[in-house]
Amino acid sequence: MNEWGGEKTTTQRELQSAIATWLERFGQALAEPDAAEWSDLFVEDCFWRDFLAFSWNIVTLEGREAVAAMAREQAAAIGAGSFKLEDDASLPLIDETRGWFTFTTRTARCRGHLQLEGGKAGVLLTSMLELIGHEEPTGDRRPAGVEHKASRGRRTWADDTAARKRVLGHEEQPYCLIVGGGQNGLQLAARLKLLSVPTLVIDALEKPGDCWRQRYPSLYLHDPIFLDHFPYLPFPDHWPLYTHKDKMADWLEIYAKAMEIDFWGNTRCTAAEYDPQTEEWTVAIVRDGRDMVLRPKQFVLATGLSGAKNMPRIEGAETFSGELYHSADHRNSAQFAGRNCVIVGSNNSAHDICVDLWEAGAEVTMIQRSPTIVVRAETMRGFSKHLPYADPSIPSEFADLISAAVPFKLRYQSETDMTEALKEIDAEFYGKLEQAGFMLSHGADGTGFLMAYHRRAGGYYIDVGASDLIAGGEVRLAQGHIARITSNAVILADGTELPADLIVYATGYRPIDELVGQLISPEVQAKVGPCWGLGSDTDGDPGPWEGELRNMWKPTAQKGLWFQGGNLMQARFHSRHLALQLKARMENIETPVYG
Ligand SMILES: Cc1cc2nc3c(=O)[nH]c(=O)nc-3n(C[C@H](O)[C@H](O)[C@H](O)COP(=O)(O)OP(=O)(O)OC[C@H]3O[C@@H](n4cnc5c(N)ncnc54)[C@H](O)[C@@H]3O)c2cc1C
Repeated sequence: MNEWGGEKTTTQRELQSAIATWLERFGQALAEPDAAEWSDLFVEDCFWRDFLAFSWNIVTLEGREAVAAMAREQAAAIGAGSFKLEDDASLPLIDETRGWFTFTTRTARCRGHLQLEGGKAGVLLTSMLELIGHEEPTGDRRPAGVEHKASRGRRTWADDTAARKRVLGHEEQPYCLIVGGGQNGLQLAARLKLLSVPTLVIDALEKPGDCWRQRYPSLYLHDPIFLDHFPYLPFPDHWPLYTHKDKMADWLEIYAKAMEIDFWGNTRCTAAEYDPQTEEWTVAIVRDGRDMVLRPKQFVLATGLSGAKNMPRIEGAETFSGELYHSADHRNSAQFAGRNCVIVGSNNSAHDICVDLWEAGAEVTMIQRSPTIVVRAETMRGFSKHLPYADPSIPSEFADLISAAVPFKLRYQSETDMTEALKEIDAEFYGKLEQAGFMLSHGADGTGFLMAYHRRAGGYYIDVGASDLIAGGEVRLAQGHIARITSNAVILADGTELPADLIVYATGYRPIDELVGQLISPEVQAKVGPCWGLGSDTDGDPGPWEGELRNMWKPTAQKGLWFQGGNLMQARFHSRHLALQLKARMENIETPVYG
C-alpha cells in the first residue's frame, strides 16, 4: 500500500476513533471556551493554522495560550460544529496520529486536519471551503444555460455577455477591481465569477498573458506542470512537464476567455483613494490613453510581488555608450552575438539571462555581489515526484491543503533536511561551482531556497544550465562591488575592468508596498506595512515573527485593500481564500477578523 492509498487498516480505524474523540471534546470546549481546559486538548507547544474558518484571517497560532485565546474570542461568533471524520481511507496524511475532518461554522463549510501527540492536538489545520448558501454553481448546481422552448426575442449567451461588457465599468461599477491580469489576477477573478461577484480586471498590457510573453525567449517554468494547475481548468494531461513562457501566456489568454473574465487591457491604474464614508474607492485609470474613474468597493493589487525595477545608482552609468537596462527589459539576445555582456546580480533572472546571451553567442560575465542559493532543477524534479501534487488521484486543491497542514515554523526542519540531502546528492556539482569561485549559500540558517522564497521572494537560482557554464568558465564570474561605469566598461572596486557592450541590472525590484505609497498614499503605505515575508529576522525579512506571509490574501490595515500574489500554487490555493472574503463582504456576512 502506498502512502496515499489502500485499504483502511485496523490501525487507521483505531486512530480515527482517537481523532473523533478529540473532535468531540474540541466541540464541547468551543461551546464553553472560558470554562474549557485547553491544556487537556492541546500540547503546550502546539500550532493552529487557520484559513478563515475561525479567524476570517490567515493565521498560525503558536502555543497553547495563543490557541486558547483565539478559541475564547472567536468561538461564539463562529459557531463551529458538526465535526466529522473524513470517511475516505484513501486520503493521505492518515496514520497513527493524523486525520482529516470536516465541520461547519455559522456561515461556511470547512475542512481540517489534526495531528495528535499523546491524545492532544500538536498541529491543527482548519480551512474554509465554501460559504453556505453561496456555493459555486458547479457539478449538480450547473445552470441549464438555455431554456428549451421557443421564444421570440430570445436573449442568448452572446447577448448577455455583450450587455455585461457594455455596462461593467460604465453604468455599473464592479464590486471588485483587480489591478493586474497575470495568473493571480485571473485566478482570483475566475473564483469571483463563480461566486457572482461583479469583478473587473485591468492590466497595463494589452492581453492576458502578455506579462509572460514579454519575458526573455528561453524562459520555461521551473516548476513541473502538476504544481501549476489553475482552478476549474487543469492543464491537459499530455502537456509537457515544463511549460514554455509563451505557452503559459497563451494559457492565461485561454483561461480568461473560458472563465469569461471581464478584462480591460491597455489600462493602467494611476491612483486610488478610499472614502471611509461611502466605503468606496475612487480609482484613476488610463484606458487606451483615455482618463477614466472606477468606483469599486474592493480594490485588489495583483501587480506581481514586486514594485518598480530596482536600478542601482552607479557612478558614470550615464556615460555608458552601450545598452544598459533592467533584467525585466531583457527581450532578445541575438543582437549581442560576439559582444561583451555584463550581468549584475546572481539570482534567477541573472542566471537565465546569462544563458540566453551565451546561447546567442555573446561573451558573458556575471557579477556576483553576495552568496546565492543554487538548487538543480533536475534534482528537484526527482523530489517533486514524491509530492502529493504528482499523484493524479489527488486533486490539486486537496494537495494544497496537504502542504498547508505543516505550519511554516515546522517546515524549518524539513527544509534543512532537504538542503542537507541536496548537498549530498549534488556534492560534485556544488564542488565544481565553488572551485569556479561561485559564492554558494544554503539560506540564512540552512533552510534553502523554498524558505528564501517565502522570506524574501528571491536570493536563489534554480539551475537549468547556467551553473555548468559558470563552472566551465563559459560564463565568466566576477565578484565584488561596482566602483563605476565608463563609456565601455564596468570597473569593480578592486580595479578589475570588465569591457561591456551591454550591462543588465538583474538587481531585483522595489518592495510592493512602495507601489501602495505611489498609487494610494504614503500614509496608507505606512499603515499597511510590508507585504510578503514571514518575519524571520533574516536578511530581507525583518522580524517580528508573523508565521504567515504578511498582508497576503487577507485583511490589511486599510479597509477594502487586498493583495493577491505568489507563484502558481499560491495563486490557486489562496485565490479561494481571498474570493471567499470578498464574497462574504459583498453579502454583508459577519466576518469577525482575529489577529
Ligand atoms: C524566470 C522566472 C521563472 C518563474 N518560474 C515559475 C514557476 O516555475 N512556477 C511558478 O509558479 N512561478 C514562477 N515564476 C514566478 C511567478 O509565478 C511569476 O512572477 C508570475 O508572473 C507572478 O504572477 P502575478 O499575476 O502575481 O504577477 P505578474 O505576472 O507580474 O502580473 C502582474 C500584472 O500586473 C500588471 N500591472 C502592474 N502594475 C499595474 C498598474 N499600475 N496598472 C495596471 N496593470 C498593472 C502588469 O502589467 C502585469 O501584467 C517565475 C518567474 C520568473 C521571472
